[in-house]
Amino acid sequence: MLLKVNNLVKSFGGIRAVRDVTIGISEGSISSIIGPNGAGKTTFFNLLTGIYKPDQGSIDFNGRSLIGLRPDQVNKAGIARTFQSIRLFGNMTVLENIMVGTHSRLHISLPHTLLRTRRFKEQERLVQEKAGMLLKFAGLSGKGDELRKNLPYGDQRRIEIARALASDPKLILLDEPTAGMNPQESAEAMSLFRKIRDELGITVVLIEHDIRVVMGISEHIDVLDYGQKIAEGTPGEIQANPLVLD
Ligand code: ATP
Repeated sequence: MLLKVNNLVKSFGGIRAVRDVTIGISEGSISSIIGPNGAGKTTFFNLLTGIYKPDQGSIDFNGRSLIGLRPDQVNKAGIARTFQSIRLFGNMTVLENIMVGTHSRLHISLPHTLLRTRRFKEQERLVQEKAGMLLKFAGLSGKGDELRKNLPYGDQRRIEIARALASDPKLILLDEPTAGMNPQESAEAMSLFRKIRDELGITVVLIEHDIRVVMGISEHIDVLDYGQKIAEGTPGEIQANPLVLD
């Protein structure tokens, strides 16, 4: 198991958003977390990535506990994510947005940056190169100099994914990555998710509502409802589970 979450609990006032959830993610797998609106899926990602602190439970990733780590420290530990509502810098180019994702891997001090020393310029060149490679990998070739705000929705989701990959994660969490896409875009997005696992060796977890995507790509599925895990299994098992169907 790359990620082992045990008995995770999070409440907001009277709302118990995540109730005693236990989930394991195997290294090198592609899995999905599904469930109706308000089931606690995004809260679960927010707990994993240090945005919220759990009330109870444990989160172990790659042999260490993540409890108490800030989001930037979780990213440094090897987890990257995208957001349900796209969060990119509108007035930066596509390439610059991707470059931002490398921040947790940079080793450059403020004086070097302010004085634009040789060391700074060398790091900047490496970061540009890496962002350029990810641009291509994510299917955005030729769009590096465009402003993010001028690109269609599907491309913006790809930029978010490329930015997440720029931090060299071991695990990538994708929150509704095909939301708003047409069937053709969803099919292309699915092949990108496979490429992330097959070519980069990164473990992939999706929160997804499009059942064709979920069933088409997942090796394992966990189902949440009212903050609780009600089922887990292969796509075939989940499709035949009466509790899930209900
Ligand atoms: P969706 O598919 O609609 O995104 P979800 O499964 O991701 O839903 P969450 O967004 O995790 O569900 O929400 C779970 C519950 O927790 C909901 O009742 C939501 O209103 C509540 N909730 C989430 N974040 C907060 C917060 N910061 N403060 C108060 N309540 C919250």
